Amino acid sequence: MQGKIRTRFAPSPTGYLHIGGLRTALYGFLFAKKGGGDFVLRIEDTDTARYVDGSVQIIYDTMRDSGIMYDEGPDVGGDYGPYVQSERKSLYLEYAKKLVELGGAYYCFCDQERIESLKDETGNIRYDKHCLKLSKEEIARRIASGEKYVIRQNVPTEGTGSYHDLVYGDISVDYKDIEDGILLKSDGMPTYNFANVIDDHLMGITHVIRGTEYLSSTPKYNLMYDAFGWERPTYIHLPPIMKDAQHKLSKRNGDASYEDFVNKGYVKEAIVNYIALLGWSPKGNQEKMSLNELIENFSLEGIGKSSAIFDEAKMKWLSGEYIKAMTDEELVEKADKFFKESKVYGKYDLKKIAALLKTRIEIYSEIPEKINFLEEFGEYDIALYTHKKMKTDAEIAKVVLPKAREVIANLKEFNYDSIHDALMALVAEMGVKNGQVFWCVRVAISGKESTAGGVMEIAELLGKEETLKRLDYSIQLLNK
Ligand code: GLU
Repeated sequence: MQGKIRTRFAPSPTGYLHIGGLRTALYGFLFAKKGGGDFVLRIEDTDTARYVDGSVQIIYDTMRDSGIMYDEGPDVGGDYGPYVQSERKSLYLEYAKKLVELGGAYYCFCDQERIESLKDETGNIRYDKHCLKLSKEEIARRIASGEKYVIRQNVPTEGTGSYHDLVYGDISVDYKDIEDGILLKSDGMPTYNFANVIDDHLMGITHVIRGTEYLSSTPKYNLMYDAFGWERPTYIHLPPIMKDAQHKLSKRNGDASYEDFVNKGYVKEAIVNYIALLGWSPKGNQEKMSLNELIENFSLEGIGKSSAIFDEAKMKWLSGEYIKAMTDEELVEKADKFFKESKVYGKYDLKKIAALLKTRIEIYSEIPEKINFLEEFGEYDIALYTHKKMKTDAEIAKVVLPKAREVIANLKEFNYDSIHDALMALVAEMGVKNGQVFWCVRVAISGKESTAGGVMEIAELLGKEETLKRLDYSIQLLNK
């Protein structure tokens, strides 16, 4: 019986946190939280060639911002630190030496030239266990003389490594297909293949959740757990996320990161919610779920084996659902940056505008374009009056608008109801269709085909004076 559940997210700091990485983090977080366990962040920075400055900070920021918060990690501490692999260097040497003593690894002094000479016709290199035969004395002498070495895993030449993955089931790999890979490099840094085992064990990780690319290398990690006499963790490998049927979504292809989507104006909760659905299906039909609801509903049984396709349109729809559910105040607050980019900022009551926008946008970045007309009005194409369904066009507008101007000018109170009633009375008086009046007036006071809000809402925001000014302008424009 395992004790407290402990999962980890172990990103390499190689740039932005992409969607696949964040999904791995999210599942580790959801699984731990659902089981009352701990979620750990570990920075895997041993591949110095791929290190990108600033990316550790991006990882911290993204996780905080998205709410996928860890209980232990480099910047929050914990009992199992350090949580950055480069700060654990001495540990790896110690355990690599131990593994050598246990027969699970060996020193290798082969230089690049010899390694190159092992290339086969297809250009593949497979190490031939040459240094496994060296005597203890020779090894000690060569190390003492300062010769460079690596430590390699000693993989059996026959037999099969098997384990049970909670998503993919029973996995078996023949040892003859596994190379004696490098565990400790000549600069003393571990490779991923070694560090993940040492750290997952020392950090008490009970469930290893990561991408399928590690499915077939896991038997070699198990060899090390077994050699050390450590309990193997439970494995949960996650299906890949695809851009389309052929291409994986990946940051190497420049595919969008969490941050990119936030900058594009997606609701953050919707991004996290959508990512949760990439490879996991909830039991019920409910797709819109807060982080707490995700924790409540998450289960490993819902994780599928087949790859998930990243559908930005669906994420957009979900973002729209979140916006609809916001209060006006919330929308004003959360979309602040986008309101600031619009021309109306500081000039209108944003809460009133938010009320109109709420059902009409899916992402915040649509805001400026939807409301700029309030501050920006001038020549427009009179073809906008043509609307088949509304049975209207510029000729009808020419007749309707002067009358509409008159009834609006006569209003003592200028609000939604009074404008509505006046225009309805005009519809009755003229014997025309509602749309013929409402469509024409809306175009006349906005100069736009689509606006946040209908006639009454827009007119109310503009005020009586501006509404009449715009009607006058449009009447002139139509009679040019
Ligand atoms: N650093 C590895 C990666 O970014 C972590 C894999 C794992 O979770 O074990 O792919």
